[in-house]
Amino acid sequence: MIDNLPPLRDVIARHDLRAKKALGQNFLLDLNLTARIARAAGDLSSADVLEVGPGPGGLTRGLLAQGARKVLAIEKDARCLPALEEIGAAYPGRLQVIHGDALAIDPLAHLTPPIRVVANLPYNVGTELLVRWLTPAQWPPYWDSLTLMFQREVAERIVAQPGGKAYGRLALLAQWRCEARIVLTLPPEAFSPPPKVSSAVVHLTALPAPRFPADPAILSRVIAAAFNQRRKMLRASLRGLDPQIEARLTRLGIAPTARAEEIALEAFCALARDIEHQRP
Ligand code: SAM
Repeated sequence: MIDNLPPLRDVIARHDLRAKKALGQNFLLDLNLTARIARAAGDLSSADVLEVGPGPGGLTRGLLAQGARKVLAIEKDARCLPALEEIGAAYPGRLQVIHGDALAIDPLAHLTPPIRVVANLPYNVGTELLVRWLTPAQWPPYWDSLTLMFQREVAERIVAQPGGKAYGRLALLAQWRCEARIVLTLPPEAFSPPPKVSSAVVHLTALPAPRFPADPAILSRVIAAAFNQRRKMLRASLRGLDPQIEARLTRLGIAPTARAEEIALEAFCALARDIEHQRP
């Protein structure tokens, strides 16, 4: 028992929160599990937490029970609001709920650093928000860490290392300026209703500065070009960026015949810097 509130099954029945597929609703009902996810987010006692998609509030309860200074929860489905209000009443002054689309709301006006982000979101919204969180105008970003549930396959793409099919733009984007690791994997039965695939929680910590220097726009262009045609050799996939790419790659010690998925982050950064500073 993490709090004195009723079990989530009762909450869902009382507020008639039948899961809606269109909103990607797969709820976590086991409060031991939501407490574990909240613990994976790190020390919450001195942090404000942004939670996206609280639904009936299982994870919200975990975050509050773990001592979060404040939770700002953004939920699109109005049916969930009364259930969330009950949680707010049990933790006076610590839960603020905003009804709306997380993609359209700027949470910063309501939060005080340090800020940690925690969410169990539908797949499409989750990936879009992750990319936004990873590409702010300034680094370091406003958040210290992201603790996010994804389909397992997406989680594996975030933490992937060179040499496999999972390695690509998401891994490079995440690992350039974050420490990223999978902290929990969950079978479909952990959710109600169960989704078709397994899920995993990824914890990302923002590094104070990028692992290797590079201009974000140039690095992003290089990586996009390399992985848009990931089966081609770099000398072909990157020719559009620079007609002399073969000589440039050779000078940098990168095999022009290698494919994108064999190339480490450090080499992509070196290439971005070279394109920025050296004429071919
Ligand atoms: N966090 C709850 C849990 O773990 O049981 C619910 C998870 S459920 C996978 C995703 C939640 O995100 C749903 O409550 C859904 O209504 C909400 N949601 C979907 N799209 C959203 C959006 N664009 N902005 C805010 N919430 C959204």
